[in-house]
Amino acid sequence: MTVQTSTAQAAPITPTAPTAPAADAIIAAWQGLNLIGGERLAAAATLPVIAPATGAEIGVTAASGPAEVDAAVAAARAAWPGWAAMPARDRGRRVAAAGRAILDELEDLARVLALETGKAIRTECRGELRTAADILEFYGGLGSELKGETVPFNPRMLTMTTREPLGVVAAILPWNVPLVLMMLKIAPALVAGNTVVVKASEEAPYATFAAAAILARHLPAGVVNVVSGTGAVCGAALTAHPDVAKITFTGSEAVGQAVYEAGAARIVPVSLELGGKSPMIVCADADLAKAVEGAVSGMRFTRQGQSCTASSRIYVHQDLYDAFLGALTARLDQLVIGDPLDEATDVGTIISARQMATIRRYLDLAEADGARVIRCGRLPEDPALDPALFMQPTLLTDIADDHPCVQEEIFGPVAVIQPWADYDAVIARANATHYGLAATVWTASLSTALDATQRIDAGYVQVNQNLTIQPNVSYGGFGRSGLGKEASLEAMLEHFTRKKTIVINFD
Ligand code: NAD
Repeated sequence: MTVQTSTAQAAPITPTAPTAPAADAIIAAWQGLNLIGGERLAAAATLPVIAPATGAEIGVTAASGPAEVDAAVAAARAAWPGWAAMPARDRGRRVAAAGRAILDELEDLARVLALETGKAIRTECRGELRTAADILEFYGGLGSELKGETVPFNPRMLTMTTREPLGVVAAILPWNVPLVLMMLKIAPALVAGNTVVVKASEEAPYATFAAAAILARHLPAGVVNVVSGTGAVCGAALTAHPDVAKITFTGSEAVGQAVYEAGAARIVPVSLELGGKSPMIVCADADLAKAVEGAVSGMRFTRQGQSCTASSRIYVHQDLYDAFLGALTARLDQLVIGDPLDEATDVGTIISARQMATIRRYLDLAEADGARVIRCGRLPEDPALDPALFMQPTLLTDIADDHPCVQEEIFGPVAVIQPWADYDAVIARANATHYGLAATVWTASLSTALDATQRIDAGYVQVNQNLTIQPNVSYGGFGRSGLGKEASLEAMLEHFTRKKTIVINFD
């Protein structure tokens, strides 16, 4: 296939600058370009990228099609034998070094992320960069853990297993936490000896390219490639590509199903991290103040609720219900909604008009069906901001369990709060969605905590806390929340290697 990328604008990746480039320079460096084979290459077409807080077009991103995808996969395929042949600990050292280099450029990358996603720089973006770097450092130390086993099969036969890389891994990203999710996919893939083609989110591509460029400075050309473009064209071309040996996807349930079908068509392994409607159960003996803070952090209100693990169904024991609702409302009223780049801001914007319309549809439905809608905090009045994508943290009460707002992922700052009286019934209600990503339980009773953790159908259950993803802790959903795990050694071994059995008869 002829590769239709223009070489006129192609430029090699610049070596590490002594000082971190400014956020504007990072954005300027990735106008309509992909990262392919260690070079920035122009795509044949582009898409606008909008800063959600101002509505301003901050630039364009590549609208890659099959030709650009083909070039990226070819670069990854060409780089694979050399990368796979490198000692695993050396691969790991390079990946870890890239993690440390990301920390050196944290401030500029965080500004880019805040601009393109609308997430507040203080409460969200810097932390995302630190976690992304931590994931690279964590996996960078695991090169020597790519071990096989010996099997006591027959005394005159040496029987063993080895772990081999798969080849070219396609990693498809959403916009909400693109850097953490990128590193969760590509760090284990790379250390295991695979090369990668990342599909950036076309809505928030620049920080992804900039972080990948830092990795590219530490790796041989072509080991990490990034393309941007629409899901329907660029994403579909990548999942259908015959040289892609593994697909790892994070995004919505509907697209995840399409990606799974594309993998099935070629019989390649697929990992899916999809949506959620995670329950939070507050028992009568819970520490109220801790539980309220847990609801604020668990619902990811500072990320406008745009989180797959958001505690969006909050069940509070009837004895605590009024106090909890009052304290949570008062706490949310204190959050400052405003310019994502302002240090005073706690909560930025929704990502796009499309996402905003989806959230509003759910709220209209709730109101039409008689739910009580409690809007907290104040919308910003700064004339430099476009009010279109700002939304107040919102609580829904007096709503039926089978309502779409209780059953479906809204992916906005909207949490349902419902009272409960019977423990067995609330466990059943917590399990009554087709999702199973995460859950939290708030109680002073050890036996309630242990019982609930055993009975809740979710891949990540926490008691009296609400941590986000940790690199060394296995993470992934049950049911329609996904397939396979991310983070931890297990994810690297199970999802980015294949196991070979070798039997040597020495009789
Ligand atoms: P999305 O599914 O619309 O898009 C995700 C990515 O897939 C984007 O890069 C998109 O361009 C691409 N894509 C779209 N159609 C495609 C196709 N046919 N083939 C291949 N790729 C395609 O999701 P989004 O709106 O970007 O992100 C929000 C969703 O992500 C939410 O549902 C959320 O729950 C989910 N999410 C899950 C997790 C998790 O770990 N479980 C984490 C973050 C986000």
